Amino acid sequence: MTYTLIVLGSGQDGGSPQVGSLSHGTSQRTASSIAITSDVADPIVFDASPDLRLQYRRLCEHTSDGVGLDGVFITHGHMGHYGGLIHFGKEAAATDLLPLFAPASVLSFLKANEPWATLFSRAHLDPVPIDETTASIGDLTIEAITVPHRSEFTDTVAYSIALRDEPWVLYLPDIDSWGEWPQAEETISRHRISLLDATFSSIDELPGRNIAEIRHPLVPDTIERFAHLTTDHTIVLTHINHSNRLGADDDPTTSMAREHGFVIAYDGLILEHD
Ligand SMILES: [Zn+2]
Ligand SMILES: [Zn+2]
Repeated sequence: MTYTLIVLGSGQDGGSPQVGSLSHGTSQRTASSIAITSDVADPIVFDASPDLRLQYRRLCEHTSDGVGLDGVFITHGHMGHYGGLIHFGKEAAATDLLPLFAPASVLSFLKANEPWATLFSRAHLDPVPIDETTASIGDLTIEAITVPHRSEFTDTVAYSIALRDEPWVLYLPDIDSWGEWPQAEETISRHRISLLDATFSSIDELPGRNIAEIRHPLVPDTIERFAHLTTDHTIVLTHINHSNRLGADDDPTTSMAREHGFVIAYDGLILEHD
């Protein structure tokens, strides 16, 4: 049995280029999402991004056209992470009780607001709160870990994905700062692969916006904190904002990340596991 991790989207919620800032984009990125495929079950997807339709097409390149999903996991209630749920409704896929795993606060938020509420009342989605339990899908066990991140609407979680009881993937696209989450290093060092928030490389990236209101760790800080883990672990930088040149060959932070053994995510990046 082969399990494959596919980075479906490597961008921040608005993707890159972003509406209103077409000239800033350095790479084409859809909003953050990953999928896990296997030869024994349908894929599962982490975060339903607004770009889900395009990402599904990429997923089919690695599975088969028309494949269903065994479940969708949502990290939190910011638009880049649940907006794609719209594609499961009556006007589109019209799924039948597709399991939707999410923190209870995310499920309450969705059920209280249209057009999401209808997805539940019409039984397109089957809500499964994941705060105090784990989900088992085939050989995978998935656990939600609460992390500090702007909670205007909902809590935020990272997902820990174990394969045959061995921690495999940590998916952590959004966090306010590493300093507010003391378990960061221990949690990353337990997983073979960690996909981490790399939204911004510099506080100067968004002229005219107060970056204090959209807090994320800066990539150089992430590199400094976790570089010593890259010899034994794969650390993937993802959720990259349209203003962030991370990934461009002439970008100094890109050079720093590569020198310290980090992987910079791109849409379609594949990591396999037997
Ligand atoms: Zn986000
Ligand atoms: Zn967020």
